[in-house]
Amino acid sequence: MPVNLKALDEAQLKEFVLGEGLEPYRALQLLGWIYEKGVQRIEDITVFSKPLREELSKRAYISCLEPLKRLKSKDGTEKFLLRLEDGETVETVLIPEEQRLTLCISSQVGCAMGCRFCATAKVGFRRNLLAHEIVDQIITVQRLIAPRRITNIVLMGMGEPLKNTENVAEALRRITTLLRISKRRITLSTSGVVDELRRLPDIAPRVNLAVSLNATTNSLRDRLMPVNRAYPLEKLLDALRAYPLEPRRRITFEYILIKGVNDSRDDALRLCDLLRGIRAKINLIPFNPFEGSGFERPDERTVEGFQNLLIKRGYTAVIRKSRGDDISAACGQLKGQYELQV
Ligand code: SAH
Ligand code: SF4
Repeated sequence: MPVNLKALDEAQLKEFVLGEGLEPYRALQLLGWIYEKGVQRIEDITVFSKPLREELSKRAYISCLEPLKRLKSKDGTEKFLLRLEDGETVETVLIPEEQRLTLCISSQVGCAMGCRFCATAKVGFRRNLLAHEIVDQIITVQRLIAPRRITNIVLMGMGEPLKNTENVAEALRRITTLLRISKRRITLSTSGVVDELRRLPDIAPRVNLAVSLNATTNSLRDRLMPVNRAYPLEKLLDALRAYPLEPRRRITFEYILIKGVNDSRDDALRLCDLLRGIRAKINLIPFNPFEGSGFERPDERTVEGFQNLLIKRGYTAVIRKSRGDDISAACGQLKGQYELQV
């Protein structure tokens, strides 16, 4: 079986190169061509002599994601359906803003967390993505959109990153070193897997952290997000208070506003209480509907009222406009090629 060079980390790649009887600097050349130039075949690594490329091609290859679909929203957002080597697929969303070009990547095929408001949950869990499959979403989309350059990464696509922590940590190492995207321009979003959250800073580059809160009482959060039964609000907020934030950084709290469920004045007041003492900013996301969800988006006045109350109490709160909802690319709408089981 030929070796997939992308599946190797830096140390393993060096080992492979030495095993081939090559000089160590060849490993660096390989890394540069695979990650910076994004070559898809060993034959295309033209700093290597033709005979060397032919030799290596017998024993190694570079895996790639195959773009199956590319949809463009009227607001400029683009969604890519990418095929993995085993035939599974993931979705990745490109979001152009004034000053940045953000790619929203997936960490799993499907998701096991079962949040009631999320289409990915309805897909169920298929499998974890490997580190290189996470990174490859960036390499693939970058190649397709050149000469534009992706500037920011958010792990907010399909899946719960902290149920796949090791692969996510290795992916973050490669994204920050080999793809040279600054950790300040990367955000990992979690539903609140507290044990993993506590060890994350020790095992991965310190990227920005976002937490999907979505409810201010345990009884509601238990219902909306089953993860809360294992890690209730007090535990989650304790872990976040202890989280080693870099200077001038804040934790982003994502709060989906769902009509009649979590959008009242009391919810807003409780939210303020919960976040006291945490360097926080709040992203309010009006619920994005999908087939059979059973939830609705509140009207604009309710959303703005909720925001104003938070601002009056001294919090930074922004309303996240939904992007790409005409192509089911908005938060919570990713379901890949799968039909929803509703
Ligand atoms: N699993 C991680 C990251 C992916 S979800 C997490 O849950 O944080 C990214 C964001 O989309 C989360 O903040 C989630 O609360 C939000 N989301 C899920 N379904 C949504 C929906 N239908 N409308 C709006 N936002 C949604
Ligand atoms: Fe999974 Fe996040 Fe969707 Fe919850 S919101 S089901 S954790 S992807």
